Amino acid sequence: MRDAGRLVHQVLLAMAQMAQPGVTTAELDSLAERMCRQAGAQCLFKGVPGAGGPFPGNICCSINEQVVHGIPGPRKIAAGDLVSLDFGVRLHGYCGDAATTLEIGPVNERLHLLVETTREALEIAIRMAAPGVRWSQVAGAMQKCAEDRGFGVVRQFVGHGIGTDMWEDPKLPNFVSAALLKNDIVLRKGMVLAVEPMVNLGTAEVKILEDGWTVVTKDGKPSAHFEHMLAVTDDGADVLTDGR
Ligand code: MG
Repeated sequence: MRDAGRLVHQVLLAMAQMAQPGVTTAELDSLAERMCRQAGAQCLFKGVPGAGGPFPGNICCSINEQVVHGIPGPRKIAAGDLVSLDFGVRLHGYCGDAATTLEIGPVNERLHLLVETTREALEIAIRMAAPGVRWSQVAGAMQKCAEDRGFGVVRQFVGHGIGTDMWEDPKLPNFVSAALLKNDIVLRKGMVLAVEPMVNLGTAEVKILEDGWTVVTKDGKPSAHFEHMLAVTDDGADVLTDGR
């Protein structure tokens, strides 16, 4: 799984270097597809069934008010944009999945804080994940990190287990709910978790565009998204998508 995770990391890094003003999101998509093919891996997002038909991209590229599941295409990245890139592969039978949010050129202070806070929420999960820990403890700390700064934590989309399939149990919300407390998840050694906080500048509420895929904030304000794959070990979380 680390091999798959490393490939995802390398692709995200290459896309981040390419993502300059004027570059289209389709160009980023092509780069990801090419790198994936060269590595002998399969891109996992393309063809995923959904309300909008099979997902048409190899990557999800979600800009500004787009939260997740943005479709790559002719749109050019512009200075001041927040660009979230999400990518998943299967390599030698195992899946890798990670996401990052890029600040294109200087962005305003509040946007920068949104990005840093979302990254921090993920880092909290990495620090806390260990055998015996209840997921509600982790989710509560992630949620507090975002809400203390006045940001909204997306409810409709959550993290997930990952292995030979991209989406495996358990579902990993980035917030605490009565449902989670009633049916809490106790982390165990050997679990691999795709943890992916989605944090909005304004309201937590989202809606799906007419394309059937693109998730946007209801208030049109920007959103950020980070994702790492963590293996739960006796020593805590081992991040599989940090390039090692
Ligand atoms: Mg994921």
